Amino acid sequence: MAYISFKDITKGYNIVGKIKYAVKDINFEIDKGEFVLIKGLSGSGKSTIINLLSSFDKPDSGSIIVDKEDISKLKRKKLLEYRKTKVGVVSDLIDELTLIENVILAVNLSKNEIDAETYIKKLGFDKKLNYYPFELSNSEKVKASLLVTLCKGADIILCDDILLNSDSKDQKQMITLLKSLCKKNKCITIITSRSSKMSSIFNKVITLKNGKIDSIKNNKKTKAIGDVKW
Ligand code: ADP
Ligand code: MG
Repeated sequence: MAYISFKDITKGYNIVGKIKYAVKDINFEIDKGEFVLIKGLSGSGKSTIINLLSSFDKPDSGSIIVDKEDISKLKRKKLLEYRKTKVGVVSDLIDELTLIENVILAVNLSKNEIDAETYIKKLGFDKKLNYYPFELSNSEKVKASLLVTLCKGADIILCDDILLNSDSKDQKQMITLLKSLCKKNKCITIITSRSSKMSSIFNKVITLKNGKIDSIKNNKKTKAIGDVKW
């Protein structure tokens, strides 16, 4: 059984009396260790899938099975546990804390052994640990959010549009680290993007079109990050 499976997932919004579907009849499976790209134009449903998988949103119908449990039916306590340990979502940093304080907080909350030092080095933050988020560039801020998320040591890492406002150097650093962690720790990483320029480095590419699955492609052999054009 796959670690994650979306079964007939539909989520819509009532807009002036009419239902507009953000995603409709979505089915896919993801195994442990897979490096996944969800691609599609703006409005195709990428963020909706990330919000459903992070459990911050609930589907109207269908089931989202993660590690044999339907997360859309979890009660409060189990839901908090899921958010705390299973899933890590790249999101904003705590503005009042420096980067190292943000990192320490995440490491302390984690149940797993975290090699924060390696993540800090690989993302190039050795000399900026005492910076506050507002002292970082926009591109660095995204990278710093990823750093803090990785320090949580979750089984599933969700990266919604982290490439959108990043420089190519930062994109490469983030993707390189994420891909190596996927392989080493057997975690699942899901990245959303409008761009398909690096599809060949992912194990699985799910393409969305107007809230529906257009295609799912499994790459038996993935390209090395250095072999794609950025
Ligand atoms: P993407 O991330 O691919 O740009 P989204 O998942 O954010 O797409 O959105 C899919 C569709 O659902 C869009 O048409 C969007 O306007 C709509 N949508 C998303 N969230 C809401 C909401 N809270 N209320 C109404 N419509 C929404
Ligand atoms: Mg989005």
